[in-house]
Amino acid sequence: MKNSKKRILFGEYIVGSGLAAALKLKPKEVVNEVKKSELRGRGGAGFPTGLKWESAAVQKADQKFIICNADEGEPGTFKDRLLLMEHPGKILEGMAIAGYAIGAHHGIIYLRGEYVYLKKGIEERIDHMKATNLLGDKILGKRFNFDVEIRLGAGAYVCGEEFALIESLNGRRGEPRNKPPFPTEKGYLDKPTVVQNVETLCYVPYIIANGAEWFRTHGTMKSTGTKLFSISGDVENPGVYEVELGITVRELLEMVGAKDTKAVQVGGASGICVSEKDFDKPIAFEGLPPGGSIIVFNHSRKMLHVLENFMEFFVEESCGQCTPCREGNYRLLEGVRLLKKGDCTVAYLRDLMELARVMQISSKCGLGQMSPNPFISIIENFKDEILYS
Ligand code: SF4
Repeated sequence: MKNSKKRILFGEYIVGSGLAAALKLKPKEVVNEVKKSELRGRGGAGFPTGLKWESAAVQKADQKFIICNADEGEPGTFKDRLLLMEHPGKILEGMAIAGYAIGAHHGIIYLRGEYVYLKKGIEERIDHMKATNLLGDKILGKRFNFDVEIRLGAGAYVCGEEFALIESLNGRRGEPRNKPPFPTEKGYLDKPTVVQNVETLCYVPYIIANGAEWFRTHGTMKSTGTKLFSISGDVENPGVYEVELGITVRELLEMVGAKDTKAVQVGGASGICVSEKDFDKPIAFEGLPPGGSIIVFNHSRKMLHVLENFMEFFVEESCGQCTPCREGNYRLLEGVRLLKKGDCTVAYLRDLMELARVMQISSKCGLGQMSPNPFISIIENFKDEILYS
């Protein structure tokens, strides 16, 4: 698998086989199988999927919900778009299995507003699955009903955060909120809700059809399974690739035909930017962050331009609710512009690095906690270029 090019979601799959296998088990057994697989969320945070399902399954409520987070908005990330276009059936099957496991009968795909052109294709797949009894009432002849609707986002990056997404679905301003309670206790319409990324849901039918042990034969001890990466930048063959978790940066660069590479942004804009000294590190939950995108920069690129681009994005997308993120991102961007003009002293740069670390621990949600990552890693890994060239 490691050297296979662009193989997406393990290849061959018999439609409905995961759902059929799930419906032969008790809901608790489905949860346990996903727990045993050690599947972790592919949206960035990496929370164990089985634990999330268990937390929702034990709640007593008249309604529960499964939400597919299809609000893919991280710069450089386009792997969920491919899954929504070419594998919607696996996403829907994963949602139905999750619904059966936690006792939910309704699913919502929260689709990025800019992906509106994918809506028709997904709706057609929903209709087809209803016609073949894989969605709707008495699925595959069992006493289990599950239907899915699509709702569109409106272009805010922060709505990829699960609470902001739920607030948006509830008809309120899309802003993160404090936890607890967690969405699995009080989510959409204040009911227990499981929110899963598109890619995470796609692995679920394979795990149930083939077993947790089979899934664990892929990846590393601590990062099971494969991972899709959107690879872009200075490479000969950009695109979406499925590789084993644990692959090194250097192996990935070879796979996509990258030459003269100076820097690699691993894990999306909010990930970290590494230089050649780190190219032999694994991309995994215990290594470099396995977010959805890898952006490659060759030696013709100026790292301050790269950093300015990332920080402009975060200033634009901060929801402004908490001070460390709202003010901090603005100050970091201001610092990058001072550096570009040669007007930033070493002492002030040290203050900005301290501010970045404060943002990581004091911001309310993942956006403000992660947005300092490119700032810290680019300043640390490319200090000579930034300060002395
Ligand atoms: S960290 Fe940023 S995006 Fe998150 S709540 Fe605070 S201001 Fe909003």
